[in-house]
Amino acid sequence: MRVVTRRAKVPLWIRPSAPFFRTHQPTLREDPVIATIEIIDQLYLLNALKEARRVAAPGATREILEKAREMRGLTVDETAVLLANDDPETRETLFAIAAEIRSAVAGRRISLFAPLYLSNACCNECAYCAFRVRHREQARRALNRQEITAEARALAALGHRRATLVCGAVYPGGMGFDYVLDAIDAVRQGRSEAGELREINVNVPPLDGSDFRRLAAARVAGYQLSQETYHREMYASVHVGGPKRDFDDRITAVHHARHAGIEHVGIGVLLGLYNWHFEALALLSHATAIERDFGSGPVSISLSRLAPAHGSAISYHPPYAVTDAELLKLVAVLRLALPYTGQVLAHEEPASIREDALRLGITEMSAAGRCEPGAYASGILDDQSQLADHRSLEKVARELTGFGFEPTFAALEFAEREPANLASLVQ
Ligand code: SF4
Repeated sequence: MRVVTRRAKVPLWIRPSAPFFRTHQPTLREDPVIATIEIIDQLYLLNALKEARRVAAPGATREILEKAREMRGLTVDETAVLLANDDPETRETLFAIAAEIRSAVAGRRISLFAPLYLSNACCNECAYCAFRVRHREQARRALNRQEITAEARALAALGHRRATLVCGAVYPGGMGFDYVLDAIDAVRQGRSEAGELREINVNVPPLDGSDFRRLAAARVAGYQLSQETYHREMYASVHVGGPKRDFDDRITAVHHARHAGIEHVGIGVLLGLYNWHFEALALLSHATAIERDFGSGPVSISLSRLAPAHGSAISYHPPYAVTDAELLKLVAVLRLALPYTGQVLAHEEPASIREDALRLGITEMSAAGRCEPGAYASGILDDQSQLADHRSLEKVARELTGFGFEPTFAALEFAEREPANLASLVQ
């Protein structure tokens, strides 16, 4: 892999006037250059979907399903055929195999976590988000060190032990990325009689290699970043301004994190922005590229559906809305294609599909989550997403137990990837 020094792009359209909105942009980057084509080949994926529609007869899928049952994973072309097949009998077999694999790799366990929003200040203009920079009605807030510790304490008091720190692309007070490192330390100070957050994951915009190395040195559990949509043209049309417009910067970020020594990475999509069959193949390509380059794939794939958000017209009318039935099929297909990869469901998903989604492949779920900075300590319930689920953690855990699952507050350890042994676990 080539190593070059290049000047980072600083978006010209942003003219920050207040220090609060100053972006942290490194002036030099000394990172390996990773070509997007090594991660996904958009044309190939679109052609695979077209070809699959031609050959997706029930007979063609039988062999693919048998291979999947052995937990050997699936190729992009095989996955495209499964996606294209709408035959009810095939769907039934697909769901049965997905449930078997889910049970073999993770038993009945479901790992719970909560997002911890450090700040909602942002310099990006993502058409689907209430925190976008031009949404003037949105009150902005960035937590200080004491407030972050209070949030961590409040989360631990609820019973949580895993948190994902979320921060927009603006770090307050001219601190740059030090703000996030300081926040990690502040969370660790949030110990109380009620317990502490033991696992800290981080979801921040793409970093340069040096900041990724600092993040690795801070001993975080993992780094997560959703591509939102893998379709380049759709990505450009919904990311209207700000550094997030850079599709390539985002899609290669997780590779840079792995290069910097962060072993556990998560990828994801925001369903509803583009055709979900395409997003499924792109997720599979991305996961496969990470495994090819580093010897192990992402630990998780996050599947969120576009939900109504204040000040975002597109969020009320997703261009490619995904139905409940389609989401369940996506969960099942990904469980077959990537048997050993965790799948994350957002807490906003309706009760009507939660049980099936868990049975078919979901292994992690956010619970009693809040998207406003400071919401846990203050009890604010006014989230950006209008579908927010305000049930208590206890209520969520009780529901999961009722479904026959075992909620846990630790990360799941998946069964070892030894197909010969694991195949015997599957009936
Ligand atoms: S999705 Fe993230 S980057 Fe985009 S506007 Fe919202 S907070 Fe900012």
